[in-house]
Amino acid sequence: MTLAARIALDTNLMPLTDERVGILSPFTNSVRTIERVSHGILSYAAVRHLWRAVALEVNPEFWMELQDREKACDLVARRLRTLDARLALAMICLFDAAGIEVCNLLVDLAADLLETELDHPTKLVSRRREVVTAAGYPVKPAGLGAIQRAELGAATRGDKVSRVTLPFADISKDGFALVSSLAVVASSWVIRSVPDPRIGQFSNISGDVAHVLDADSGSEVHLYLHRDPALAREAAILDMDDQAGELLGIPTCCREWFLREWPAARQAGGDAFAVMINQAASGGTVIVASECDASAMYRGGGLCWHFPCSPSCPETIRIVRERRERLMRSDPSLLMELETAYRYTVTIREDGTYVDHATSEHNAVIVHFK
Ligand SMILES: [Zn+2]
Repeated sequence: MTLAARIALDTNLMPLTDERVGILSPFTNSVRTIERVSHGILSYAAVRHLWRAVALEVNPEFWMELQDREKACDLVARRLRTLDARLALAMICLFDAAGIEVCNLLVDLAADLLETELDHPTKLVSRRREVVTAAGYPVKPAGLGAIQRAELGAATRGDKVSRVTLPFADISKDGFALVSSLAVVASSWVIRSVPDPRIGQFSNISGDVAHVLDADSGSEVHLYLHRDPALAREAAILDMDDQAGELLGIPTCCREWFLREWPAARQAGGDAFAVMINQAASGGTVIVASECDASAMYRGGGLCWHFPCSPSCPETIRIVRERRERLMRSDPSLLMELETAYRYTVTIREDGTYVDHATSEHNAVIVHFK
């Protein structure tokens, strides 16, 4: 019986059809569903089973239509190493996003259908780096910006779940590199960000939401990172309904404010920081705590990675100060890079464009950061 038919008929296999999370797949260098990655693991395991049988033959060259026995043995060994590495990495990715129950089902299925053993993920996750390297992927992500690198540090320490958005095409370059140091769960959907020229092409809103299996070359996927896979997975699932704020480390006051203001802010392009500024300004000017400067995100830096509910939100100030102290100890050069995005004064024009200095214009707001 095929795997698809078995999944359809056997209610014990229901968890394999869960489509709430996406899994990084070393078989396709992209993000796939639990069912697709499970299928890949079993197919690779079947192929490995065959090559293992060939490796045990006295004359493996006969099976490979080669003359040279040594060459044949070498080829079989290399093939097996590749299969082992891909399988091990796929098991880690599946474990991160789908949990141990799904992995156990697969181990049982492999034994039952293929009479072959799969490595247990609990053994594999302790050697993430080694497994990613063996599978031929880099362990240092190359395409992450300053905020994303700082978010990665926070998630590795376990301060919060971090969400980074990657182009779908960069999974092989950066996605598995993340897997080498912590648990990674992908969203089950892809987006296309909408760059906004008024805020330096930063994107606050996303269009063309599609199922992860319908991704195309312009798609982007969210990755939820934490050293604890269960928390990363919970955030991915909650984020489907915009409920992941607490796990993402956003204070309650700012989450509540955001939920209230977002529908209107979204219509205007999604700059919720400008919405807060316009609410707080009087006489065309406002003073904002530098810790609450979310507009630095539009310049690729700063330490406030959510929209603060007020110009001096105490919770945001506390979180940002802690973040700054930690970075000062752990990565002072990254802190410096993030802080280059700060400005003492900006002007937000009536149309929402940011200017890097004070300029008095009709209906513009001058923002002083203190
Ligand atoms: Zn707040």
